[in-house]
Amino acid sequence: MCGIVGYIGHQGASSILVDGLRSLEYRGYDSAGIALAPGDGSFRITRASGKLVNLQSRLDFSDPTSVGIGHTRWATHGRPTEENAHPHRSADGKVVAVHNGIFENYLELRAELALTGHTFVTETDTECFPVLVSHLMNEGRDFATAFREALGRVRGIYALACLHADDPSRILVGRSGPPLIIGIGEGENFLASDVVPLLKHTRRVIYLEDGDLAELRTDSVRIFRLDGSEVTREVHTIPFDPVSAEKGRFKHFMQKEIFEQPLAISNTLLNRLPISGEPLPLELPYSDEELRGFKRIVILACGTSRHAGLVGQFYIEHIARLSTEVDYGSEYRYREPVVEPGTLAIGITQSGETADTLAALKEAASRGARTLAICNVQGSTATRTAEAVLLTHAGPEIGVASTKAFTTQLAVLLLLAITCPSWHSCPRTSTGRRPCRTSRRRRPGRAGSWPW
Ligand code: GLU
Repeated sequence: MCGIVGYIGHQGASSILVDGLRSLEYRGYDSAGIALAPGDGSFRITRASGKLVNLQSRLDFSDPTSVGIGHTRWATHGRPTEENAHPHRSADGKVVAVHNGIFENYLELRAELALTGHTFVTETDTECFPVLVSHLMNEGRDFATAFREALGRVRGIYALACLHADDPSRILVGRSGPPLIIGIGEGENFLASDVVPLLKHTRRVIYLEDGDLAELRTDSVRIFRLDGSEVTREVHTIPFDPVSAEKGRFKHFMQKEIFEQPLAISNTLLNRLPISGEPLPLELPYSDEELRGFKRIVILACGTSRHAGLVGQFYIEHIARLSTEVDYGSEYRYREPVVEPGTLAIGITQSGETADTLAALKEAASRGARTLAICNVQGSTATRTAEAVLLTHAGPEIGVASTKAFTTQLAVLLLLAITCPSWHSCPRTSTGRRPCRTSRRRRPGRAGSWPW
């Protein structure tokens, strides 16, 4: 899944959109595009395959149009060409959409819409969406109703933003699966599939939930469910400093993030370290009795976070003496896992939005496990859905090869292993040592002050 940005306000949208797409480049992409709605009944759509500079070189940044949506694509259906780059539009040119995700029933929808005379010009699954919205409008629905009904017709996963050429006073968006975040400004509102593009503009954000739809206007944001009922969502304040998302004096983000590790780790350990040899409890919502009730840990994660989990398995088994296994977030739900009573499922995800890890945690919870998320983004889906949360305080990580996010995950896993003494199944001796660890040599001077 790649990147989505959107803007509605009083400034020229094209530079805000391209800036936003640039800060999403770290996710990788094969093409990019933006659509501006100048309010004359048409769109200015610019797309290019390859790097963002190809798109940039085609744009007129003096264009004052202040409403638009943009996308970086990572092709799932159709070749990575300019024709397949988003935004996609309906045949009448009135509806445009950008989409992260996959519409599983796009072939059915295309066949059905083709019967009514619609033509398709791309190979993508996405194109059926603006065509469907336009078709429903031709049948008499207004834009918002057609958008909502079209979301009800697609199967699969999506983060979507949609514009109508005759109604440029709002952007309609929907989420089911990939993340979508609204940034609240003053007389302007922003949209992105990740917090990083929003940091420059605002720290006040709303994380859309699965099944949410939203209408963004310059001065309002309203959120609905698929059945049309209106809901309120909490406005979160992102703690990240906008400067932390800039490269500063470093050659590239990864270098900067390597150098940020000492600070990120100390921020993560702050107020969580044992002061005088006695472990402090972590901020977990479990009683001592509940903690003692955990017999097994299952760590669920993908990619780098899974590698942190493998180290965490070592920490927890070695120090807390609790049986621990690590599973691929992407596989767990497909293998009918056995979840014994007393299982704690720990999901590790930097963004808190890794769809497979979230699905694995949900699966574990549905089979009776208690759930804990280790995550870097307060307010993200993981922090809202897991029973307990331990935040890493790494700040935004832009470099694709993870550095400070990984090491702060290790710090939290280590804290978890050492500061939950009630997990330790091996009784302590009067010296504070646990007999099960006497086979390992200790470094002089350390014995007694820390569990190892
Ligand atoms: N499935 C869509 C496509 O192939 C969206 C891919 C993406 O998430 O970037 O165009």
